[in-house]
Amino acid sequence: MNIAFLGLGNMGGPMALNLHRAGHTVRAFDLSPAALQAYGAQGLAVAASAQEAAADAEAVISMLPASRHVESLYLGDGQQPGLFAGLARGTLVIDCSTIASASARQVAAAAQALGIPFIDAPVSGGTTGAAAGTLTFMIGGETGDVERARPLLQVMGANLFHAGPAGAGQTAKICNNMLLGVLMIGTCEALALGEANGLDPAVLSEIMRRSSGGNWALEKYNPVPGVQPHTPASHDYAGGFACDLMLKDLGLAQDNASQLRAATPLGGLARSLYAAHSLAGNGTLDFSSILRSLQAAQQKSLSK
Ligand code: NAD
Repeated sequence: MNIAFLGLGNMGGPMALNLHRAGHTVRAFDLSPAALQAYGAQGLAVAASAQEAAADAEAVISMLPASRHVESLYLGDGQQPGLFAGLARGTLVIDCSTIASASARQVAAAAQALGIPFIDAPVSGGTTGAAAGTLTFMIGGETGDVERARPLLQVMGANLFHAGPAGAGQTAKICNNMLLGVLMIGTCEALALGEANGLDPAVLSEIMRRSSGGNWALEKYNPVPGVQPHTPASHDYAGGFACDLMLKDLGLAQDNASQLRAATPLGGLARSLYAAHSLAGNGTLDFSSILRSLQAAQQKSLSK
């Protein structure tokens, strides 16, 4: 299939490569010349604009940072027309970015008015899941459109969940990421406390992984450098899932909760802790680096 892939960041790059390796014809675009160069060198055909990538595409897939990027790509920004204006009717559009549910519904409604099938399909599984093609997709949209997208999503992921109508994938995603933010902080707190008591973090991690505190961070994404060689923690917290993206997702969850008057006190606390960590200059580091802020707070109180 001819696919336009827009956004070759930490997640989009490996996802696009998997489609290319599965035999699809992928034309990719990113605003970053460095990303275009890096993925061009790995065999992806790259375009000079989103419009050029999408010309003749049967499907368009986007993996962008936040709501405003997705809205301006598809709907335009007041000065430039959006991509929808030039897409042929029937071109399947799959947005995998994590954005506000309301924003996904707005883009879906604009697509529907033009006869363009659109689904929101945010993912979980991190950069390792993106590279391995084992992501979990949480999908919102019409059943027929989800079925059309299924063969493409199966190349990039191992678990596909149709959560409901337009925006439902994004709602599932913010619930998941609120839990992820809370559990990462809890895991870091427990590991920092163990370390302050002289425990080896690798040994404590293994104990908790096999006990009632076991969780995804301990299984696959240990926040302590050196405990698991493949994690961002073991590479100076580079790559992975940026703190600023986690902060965005925790903000989406809190905005949604306050609209519905839902009680999310731990989600609110996690957002404040990530905001402080980001303000301290860690916004582009992987989100597991919140361990450093907890360790620094501990050092400070010990030195008093
Ligand atoms: P990233 O910042 O690494 O990549 C985003 C890319 O989009 C950048 O390369 C940027 O240049 C590009 N971009 C921005 N606007 C563009 C436009 N108009 N046209 C083309 N390219 C454009 O982010 P990421 O870590 O790949 O995350 C992407 C999305 O996936 C985010 O919504 C994030 O919340 C979500 N997500 C990330 C992870 C993770 O582990 N990194 C996991 C699950 C979900």
